[in-house]
Amino acid sequence: MSKKYKNSLVWFRRDLRDYDHAALSHALQDSEHVFCIFIFDKEILNALKNKEDRRVEFIWESVKELKESLMQKKSDLIVLHDKAFEAMSFAIDQFKIEAIFTNRDYEPAAIARDESIKNLATSKKIAFHDFKDQVVFEKNEILTALEKPYTVFTPYKNNYLKKLSQTTIPRFDIEPWISNLAQFKSQPLLTLKDMGFQATNLHDIKIHTGMSGGKLLVEDFKERVAFYKKTRDFPAIKGVSYLSVHLRFGTVSIRQLFRLAQESFSEGAETWLNELIWREFYFQILFHRPDVAQGKAFKKEYESIAFENNPDYFKAWTEGKTGYPIVDAAMRQMNQTGFMHNRLRMIAASFLVKDLLVDWRWGEAYFAEKLIDFDLSANNGGWQWAASTGCDAQPWFRIFNPITQSTRFDLQGKFIKKYIPELKNCTDDEIHAPWLSQKAEQFKYPTPIVDHASQRIKALALYKSVKS
Ligand SMILES: Cc1cc2nc3c(=O)[nH]c(=O)nc-3n(C[C@H](O)[C@H](O)[C@H](O)COP(=O)(O)OP(=O)(O)OC[C@H]3O[C@@H](n4cnc5c(N)ncnc54)[C@H](O)[C@@H]3O)c2cc1C
Repeated sequence: MSKKYKNSLVWFRRDLRDYDHAALSHALQDSEHVFCIFIFDKEILNALKNKEDRRVEFIWESVKELKESLMQKKSDLIVLHDKAFEAMSFAIDQFKIEAIFTNRDYEPAAIARDESIKNLATSKKIAFHDFKDQVVFEKNEILTALEKPYTVFTPYKNNYLKKLSQTTIPRFDIEPWISNLAQFKSQPLLTLKDMGFQATNLHDIKIHTGMSGGKLLVEDFKERVAFYKKTRDFPAIKGVSYLSVHLRFGTVSIRQLFRLAQESFSEGAETWLNELIWREFYFQILFHRPDVAQGKAFKKEYESIAFENNPDYFKAWTEGKTGYPIVDAAMRQMNQTGFMHNRLRMIAASFLVKDLLVDWRWGEAYFAEKLIDFDLSANNGGWQWAASTGCDAQPWFRIFNPITQSTRFDLQGKFIKKYIPELKNCTDDEIHAPWLSQKAEQFKYPTPIVDHASQRIKALALYKSVKS
C-alpha cells in the first residue's frame, strides 16, 4: 500500500525511547522511510553555566542507547549540535523530508520553539504533525463543568479518574511497521567534550540511564508499589520509584506506568497513581498559566511579599550548612546526587521561604540548576505549594517545624547520618537538634543560623501583611 510520505523525520526531545512512542508509531505507519533525529540544542545548552551537568550526561547516555537501539534495527539516529531551527532546516534538506513527526512539549519556551519549526515546515511546504505522548490527558482535556482549567487538585483528580475509567490508554506500537525505519548510517555520536561538557559522577552514584535504566527501575518498583503509601515519606527507606528523571526524559512511557498502577490493585498503587496525576495537574497549570514560569505567583495577592533575602542565609541553605540536620542532609543529597526525596523537597523549600525568609524564586532557580529530574511545571508547582503562593498550596499559616519533621520522617537519623557524617555519633535523641546536646561542640557541625520559633512569627507577619 502506498504511504502518505516518502521520507519523514521523527524529532526526539523528551521522549528518548523507541517503544510505545506516539510520534514514531504514527510516522512509521504513514511513511516509506522514517529518519530519526535528536538535537543537542545550543540555545538550551549554552545557557547552562555549569559544564558538569548531570542532566546533559543523562541525556547523552540515553541518546547513545537510543542510537544503538536504532542501529540494531538497521537504522540510525541523526544527532546534531546546533540551534533547533538550523538543525531541522539542514536535516529536512539533507534527507528530502516530506513530514516532521514529534511529541508535544508544554513548556512555554518549547511551545515557541515548535511554533518556529512549524513555520519552517510551512515555508518548505512539508507537513508537521505533533502528538500527545508525555501525558495521558493534556491541555483542555480535563476541565471544570464551566469549561475552565482546574486550580484545585482533588476535583481535578476526581474528574481525571472518571475520564480515565472511560478511556483505554493507547499503545503506540513500533514493531508492526519497523521495516519502514530508513536504513542508513549516520555520523558517530559526538562526545560530551565536543559540546563543551564534562562527565559527572552519574556512574559513581549508579544512576541508570536510557531505556534500559528506566526498565530496571520499573521492574524494581513493581515489587514495591503495593507498599508505596506506607513507605513513601521516609527518605531512609527505598519507598518511592525514583522514576522522575526517566519521566523527565521519556526513557519510560507514561502509559506503561499508568498500566502498572492500574494492574497492581493495591492501596499503594492507588496513592502512586495520584502522584502521576499531580504531575499532569502541574503540566496543565503551566499550560494555562505560562506566567508562573516568569516568576509570577499563581495567587496574585502573594506577589508583593517583601522577603528579607539574606544572601548569607541563602548560601548556607545551598551548601547544607543551616544547622538544621534534616534540611542540610536534604540539600547535600541534591548537591551530591541531583536527587532529593519528595518529603525533603517540601521540608527544604518550606525552610528556605518560611524560616530563612528568602524568596521562593531563589530556591526554585537553585533546584532547577541542581535537580537531575528538573521539570519546570513540577518544580514551579512544588515551590509555589511550599511558599503558599500556588494553586492548592500549603495554607500560608502552616509552617513546617524542621525538628518535628525530622523526628517523624527520619526517627533514627539514618538518612541524616548518610549525608552528614559529622553527626554519625549522635544518639537518636540528639540527631534532630544536635545543638541542644551537651556534646554539641564535638560534632563540628554548624549551630542553627536562625531560631525556628522566632522566624515563624516573622513569617506569619510577612504573609499576614499581604493578606489584609
Ligand atoms: C519544592 C519541590 C520541587 C519539585 N521539583 C520537581 C521537579 O523539578 N521535577 C519533578 O519531576 N518533580 C518535582 N517535585 C515533585 C516530587 O518531589 C518528585 O517528582 C519526586 O520526589 C520524584 O521522585 P520519584 O520519581 O521517586 O517519585 P514517586 O513518589 O515515585 O512518584 C512518581 C512520579 O510522580 C510524579 N510526582 C510525584 N510527586 C509529584 C509532585 N508533588 N508534583 C508533580 N509530580 C509528582 C513524578 O513524575 C514522579 O516521578 C518537586 C516537589 C517539590 C515539593
